[in-house]
Amino acid sequence: MTPAAQYETHERDVLIIGAGGAGLRAAIEALAQGARVAVICKSLLGKAHTVMAEGGLAAAMGNVDHSVDWRAHFRDTYNGGKRLNNWRMAQLQAQEAPDRVRELEQWGALFDRTPDCQILQRAFGGHTYKRLCHVGDRTGLEMIRTLQDRGVEMGFDVYMECTVTRLLKDGNRVAGAFAYWRDSGKFAVFKAKAVVIATGGIGKSWKITSNSWECTGDGMALAYDAGAELLDMEFVQFHPTGMVWPPGVQGLLVTEAVRGEGGILRNKNGERFMEKYDPKRLELSTRDVVARSIYTEVKEGRGSPHGGAFLDISHKPVEYVKRKLPSMYHQFKELADVDITKGPMEVGPTCHYVMGGIRVEADTGQSTLPGLFAAGEAAGGMHGANRLGGNSLSDLLVFGRRAGLAAGEYAKKGAMPSLDAAQIEDAAREALAPFERSGGENPYKIHHDLQDVMQNLVGIFRTDADLRRALVELDKLKSRAKNIRVEGSRAFNPGWHLNFDLKSMLTVSEACAHAALARTESRGAHSRLDFPKTEDEWGKKNLVIAKKGDAMNLFEVPRPALPAELEQILAEGK
Ligand SMILES: Cc1cc2nc3c(=O)[nH]c(=O)nc-3n(C[C@H](O)[C@H](O)[C@H](O)COP(=O)(O)OP(=O)(O)OC[C@H]3O[C@@H](n4cnc5c(N)ncnc54)[C@H](O)[C@@H]3O)c2cc1C
Repeated sequence: MTPAAQYETHERDVLIIGAGGAGLRAAIEALAQGARVAVICKSLLGKAHTVMAEGGLAAAMGNVDHSVDWRAHFRDTYNGGKRLNNWRMAQLQAQEAPDRVRELEQWGALFDRTPDCQILQRAFGGHTYKRLCHVGDRTGLEMIRTLQDRGVEMGFDVYMECTVTRLLKDGNRVAGAFAYWRDSGKFAVFKAKAVVIATGGIGKSWKITSNSWECTGDGMALAYDAGAELLDMEFVQFHPTGMVWPPGVQGLLVTEAVRGEGGILRNKNGERFMEKYDPKRLELSTRDVVARSIYTEVKEGRGSPHGGAFLDISHKPVEYVKRKLPSMYHQFKELADVDITKGPMEVGPTCHYVMGGIRVEADTGQSTLPGLFAAGEAAGGMHGANRLGGNSLSDLLVFGRRAGLAAGEYAKKGAMPSLDAAQIEDAAREALAPFERSGGENPYKIHHDLQDVMQNLVGIFRTDADLRRALVELDKLKSRAKNIRVEGSRAFNPGWHLNFDLKSMLTVSEACAHAALARTESRGAHSRLDFPKTEDEWGKKNLVIAKKGDAMNLFEVPRPALPAELEQILAEGK
């Protein structure tokens, strides 16, 4: 029997995996190319992690600080990324973000306004000017709503609550994906000329994280397994302000907009400690610096009662706080019984964002594997060693659009690939194996242990000994994961879902630990206690990981020189 006859099969020109900001923007652009487009997402449409984005999206609109143009945005992004960014991506993002915002507005997004009715922009860490276009502290919701409406109106097909477990190939080229429906557990096969990965981040490998359940690094692991390369995987951002109390909500994000709107950080002695770590930018320093500062205050005994710092916005008028930070007001009131208009919040670092990801070409989002594109948090390069707040949402729009455009054009040129029955059967066999084992491990226990390893050994501060230990522990976890046993049926089975997620989490965690061990310097979000300095030599190369047999092959790639025009922009900022 052919695979098409055995499993439900869908054929499209462009298949987009992920319905966050990047996936939806890619879908809209591929549709505009005349492509037949399918979007697959493992959660519901409208519920992708992007919906949680709060503070805003960075674009050099110049609506509030009138002197700004893309050059200053490029400079801030490149300096914030400790000059390890793909410079072309940083340039494109700075140049194109304003158009992407205006376009979003034309499609119906209702941003907060200035008195003269322009899109209002707020301050954020590492941005020299007020750049963040926002909708209170619910910007991601408005963005997803707008993109979703636009995509539905243009006519994409959405397959939701459907998880991709493997990319299918025709020779060296990507040919589609193997997936299962989360409700019924039945399999589905997608055949496509081009595939765009927009599956978001990897934060669920850490114990304390702001990330949603979807962020298990699936797209990076799928791409890696299919032969694509991963870039800069050592750079994982710990956001300085997550909730630290009560335990059930530990890690939940406290948006940087609190600091953007004037929030002040203090230790238990009432000292405004950022005066010591970054006297110029204070609370609006970059995330890596603020996270390490809070961590250090706690470690040296000056932390808040639950092991964090105090963040206070209560000096602002009550109505202002409620209007500008409505989600934060409710979050603390309902979850911690704290009224942030009257007193401080307790906050501490939380795993938030991965700067690394699938290695892509800047202009097109094309990976190193023919037919495979990537955009958004799943793609690497744009943010270098550290991302500035607000730069992810604009990244999703700029590079989502570019990847959708390139995938649409690629699909126009190419013939429909063939599916290989053996690959499909192998994917099905692998998926069913956990039900067929007589003994074996519970995936929840393995996930718990993985989070311990990543939190304790591959966290904010890293050492050679810890990272080596992490790799040994990850090897053990990989062996245990091969022996997972899942009880029950395929319908609505969360243990089975976790079994797939774990495979991805173990791949991206290993990639992160490998690259972190190799990078013997400190830069941006990667802090080595045993190599505390930033080294010029390391600024000349990126680390890439590719699959070789069953092993991870890590190698250095030299960074292309910056064009004179961009060098000039950096020099102007000195
Ligand atoms: C609380 C919070 C607040 C934030 N606030 C901001 C902000 O104000 N500004 C900013 O710039 N950034 C912010 N960020 C970061 C930003 O939200 C994310 O980086 C961004 O939303 C990622 O978007 P994405 O499109 O790449 O992926 P996501 O939005 O994560 O979407 C991933 C999609 O892929 C799907 N998927 C994943 N795996 C599979 C699979 N195997 N099969 C099928 N589908 C799959 C998911 O279901 C989902 O639809 C914030 C992050 C958090 C956690």
